[in-house]
Amino acid sequence: MNTLFSIFLVFILCISIQAQSVWNAKRSSWLSIDSKDRSFIDQYIKGYSSYLDKARTEITSTKELIEMLKKEGFSEYTNPSQIKSGAKLIFNNRNRALIAVRIGSEPINKGSRLIGAHHDSPRIDIKARPLYEQEGFALFQTIYYGGIKKYQWVNIPLMLSGRIDTKDGKTISIEIGRNPQDPVLIIPDAAPHVDSPLRKREYTGVLEGEEMDLIVGTIPDQKNSIINTVMDALSSTHNFTEEDLVSAELNITPAGMPRDVGLDRSLIGSYGQDDRACSYVAITSLMDLEKTPLFTAMAYIVDNEETGNVNNTGASSSFLTKVYGIIAEAQNASTFNENITRKALSMAKVVSADANDGINPLFPGLSERTNASRLGFGPSIKRYGRSFDANSEFTAWIRNILDSKSIPWQTASYKVETGGGGTIGGQMSKEDMEVIDIGIPLLSMHSPFEIASKIDIWNLNRFFTEFYKAE
Ligand SMILES: [Zn+2]
Repeated sequence: MNTLFSIFLVFILCISIQAQSVWNAKRSSWLSIDSKDRSFIDQYIKGYSSYLDKARTEITSTKELIEMLKKEGFSEYTNPSQIKSGAKLIFNNRNRALIAVRIGSEPINKGSRLIGAHHDSPRIDIKARPLYEQEGFALFQTIYYGGIKKYQWVNIPLMLSGRIDTKDGKTISIEIGRNPQDPVLIIPDAAPHVDSPLRKREYTGVLEGEEMDLIVGTIPDQKNSIINTVMDALSSTHNFTEEDLVSAELNITPAGMPRDVGLDRSLIGSYGQDDRACSYVAITSLMDLEKTPLFTAMAYIVDNEETGNVNNTGASSSFLTKVYGIIAEAQNASTFNENITRKALSMAKVVSADANDGINPLFPGLSERTNASRLGFGPSIKRYGRSFDANSEFTAWIRNILDSKSIPWQTASYKVETGGGGTIGGQMSKEDMEVIDIGIPLLSMHSPFEIASKIDIWNLNRFFTEFYKAE
């Protein structure tokens, strides 16, 4: 081999080493576990699946999360004397949002570790005056909530749940369709035999919003009213009037159960994983902390993210600031002033945890491959550049936790100019907290059956546990 040829070979070798980015070497998380880990994963997913089955809306999720927390020794906050090192507390916000807290050994103005997630999911809501009759059917008028692709919600079994509040102060809980013995509701699509006038409709307008109404009955009473029959059926078990539906929150969600997906059972499919996946993991990681953490650890679970963080139960409300104030005041009794709450907020380290879109094997062109996240490759650090974003020093601090505990992770950025999505990160950042967006990738996001990798959920649990303990 002559010298010139050897130099040429070295040059080619150097180029090929450079082209081999560190990211190309990352492998599926399934390759780094043993059979003991697999049984931990299956065990953890069993609990997650049972939560998803019961938690179909923010109302049922709040109920379920509070029950889980109480079983682990958490109690609802009622007075400042409860705020002691090691205390396990629940701040319930109107039964639709909550903050679970493990008080640390340091006062909250020295630092805290908070994970925020939302447990509302895209769905269909019932209008205030829902009932009407058409062509021998009684139907419910609806209005959809959050970003749904409307065509995905037709011809599938749907359930009704929520609450009705009456003028005399009663709250009536409704849940019809989750139990396999219950009836379900349906939005009927047109048959292919007759739909030629509809076939030119565009992808986003396969159904118009006003075509998303639900069949609720067909039997008329003696006055030839199907509405009466439907109201009789509902009020015989639940005792309310048609006008009471104005002061109600009634939600339509898929009636199906969570299921294992894939012949290797590596995936879980269920409605509502955006973002009840992160909500469940934030709460269970907090419950599982064995020792009192140095810094107060908090799971902040909110409503209304899918409609822009609105309302007093959404992330734009002052509820979180209020809870920081309550804890800071209890810990600084005689010297307390508003600045101590502000200091506590600015010393907080926060993970805004939310699902993100994973690369889809059928539509890979909708992602920019190098910066897209993949199911089974661990939690994703989200980088946007154009809206809310963590600063680089906090991102480095988070990377250090992940790497020091050998937790697989990846990054996620949208393909430029293809769409996008928000989180609650910006809301907490506005309070002067240090915030980063991290989540797990899903397929079929915002559909009636979203898909997650079981191992990502387990690795998110490992990360959240370390984050709460981080000093
Ligand atoms: Zn989300």
